[in-house]
Amino acid sequence: MIYIFGSGLAGLSAAISLHKSGYKVTVISKKIDGGSSYWAKGGIAAAVGNEDSPELHLSDTLKVGDGLCDVKSVDYVTREIRYVISTVEKWGFRFDEGLRLEGGHSKRRILHKTDETGREITSFLLNLAKKEGINLVEDKLLALKVKDCEVVGFVTEKGGSFDAEKVVLATGGYGYLFKFTSNPSTNVGDGIAIAFRTGALVSDMEFVQFHPTVTTFDGKAYLLTETLRGEGVILLNEKGERFTFNYHSKGELAPRDVLSRAIYDQYKKGYIVYIDLSPIEDFDGKFPVLSKYIKRYGKKLQVFPGAHYTIGGIRINVRGETNIKGLYAIGEVSDSGLHGANRLASNSLAEDLVYGVNLPMYIDNWEGLSVDDAKETVEVKLSGGNSLSLDEIGEYNWNYLGIVRNGEGLSKLVKVYESADLNDNATLVSLLSAKGALLRTESRGTHYREDYPNKSWEDGKRIYFVVSR
Ligand code: FAD
Repeated sequence: MIYIFGSGLAGLSAAISLHKSGYKVTVISKKIDGGSSYWAKGGIAAAVGNEDSPELHLSDTLKVGDGLCDVKSVDYVTREIRYVISTVEKWGFRFDEGLRLEGGHSKRRILHKTDETGREITSFLLNLAKKEGINLVEDKLLALKVKDCEVVGFVTEKGGSFDAEKVVLATGGYGYLFKFTSNPSTNVGDGIAIAFRTGALVSDMEFVQFHPTVTTFDGKAYLLTETLRGEGVILLNEKGERFTFNYHSKGELAPRDVLSRAIYDQYKKGYIVYIDLSPIEDFDGKFPVLSKYIKRYGKKLQVFPGAHYTIGGIRINVRGETNIKGLYAIGEVSDSGLHGANRLASNSLAEDLVYGVNLPMYIDNWEGLSVDDAKETVEVKLSGGNSLSLDEIGEYNWNYLGIVRNGEGLSKLVKVYESADLNDNATLVSLLSAKGALLRTESRGTHYREDYPNKSWEDGKRIYFVVSR
């Protein structure tokens, strides 16, 4: 039996693909219809257009990744996604006609289904999993059992202790650990913390992507997808100035980190920022869900940045394997090196599908993550101190680990977490992220240090963490 934790796009696509290849699988998820996948709006990047190619997709990904992408992973995903899309279509899913353009992409290559692509494809896969008779269990992973660097089982909240030789973690990222976020509450870094305690290598934790355009409807955060900017919307400050070109030559189509900092800077200067949706033609047809809100709220909406995607996680190779035998990690919980220091829009759902659908190719012949390149590994000692609430962690992370960071704030934060209870997943993951951000004395991709505003480290140099024994 292969146990998959998480029922987002990564977990469900792996489960269906393994099941269709003849493997027995059980999916265990804290919330069966939970996770960021259901909230994803824009779509899935794939070079399927006539004038597009995997090479162009690769080149765009590397550019946005700012010198830290693992080229092997980028090459793998940008090539494989085209085949994986046809597999998902063979399973019966239909994308809408036409490809959309998003920030950082040189071609129209975003496959989509209405303006709720994530919900559409993940619900489709969930129904398919049910139809295929895949065992779906609502329960929470608490711990992994690992002996001599090999998985031997796991412990869940309701089910207790189980033996297992193969465990796939697809538990998502930790974007919910910031006060302002676009993420659902399921995403608090459980899988990363649980794997880390057993000896899994974790990397790139300092890189957290903030989405520039989050708004609120009915008091709740709502993400205004990248695609809107691809369709020509503009950002204005309250003086009516289209300020984006002061920060980047591509204006509204600049990479997310640049736009997030630009909007953050406008707020720091005392200006509220608005998005003007009126340039989009056929709004109701293109964005049917959003258009329902627009009818009530109008086409000029206040926007602010929020934590959106966590790039770092459990280090894996292109086969989804970690350094713990029998332990796989796929999707946002993992760090495959695809995104480097910054994620190109719509590449994460592509990563979910490639690593999920292709898992049967590797599941019977373990190679394991080569740890040769992880020579400079930082050891972290686990402690048991005072416990922090999620609200406290969210506030700390937003203030000191947010869009603009500095050494003083990060040192303070690391001390807070080092003296807190590291048996708590959210605290441990926050410590790793803060420590990475403190150690990286430069600015690169999503990581911006006002005391080190330039890129100065060697390209490809990453920070790995391992638990201290
Ligand atoms: P998730 O979908 O987050 O699923 C995690 C799963 O793990 C959940 O089922 C949860 O219940 C389960 N889980 C968590 N902890 C435990 C535990 N302890 N035990 C058991 N189960 C657990 N990316 C794109 O490429 N294109 C987009 O257009 C796009 N739009 C986005 C819009 C929003 C608002 C957000 C938040 C993200 C967006 N992203 C987008 C990012 C993308 O949605 C995510 O990176 C991706 O969905 C992650 O998928 P996943 O399967 O790895 O994890």
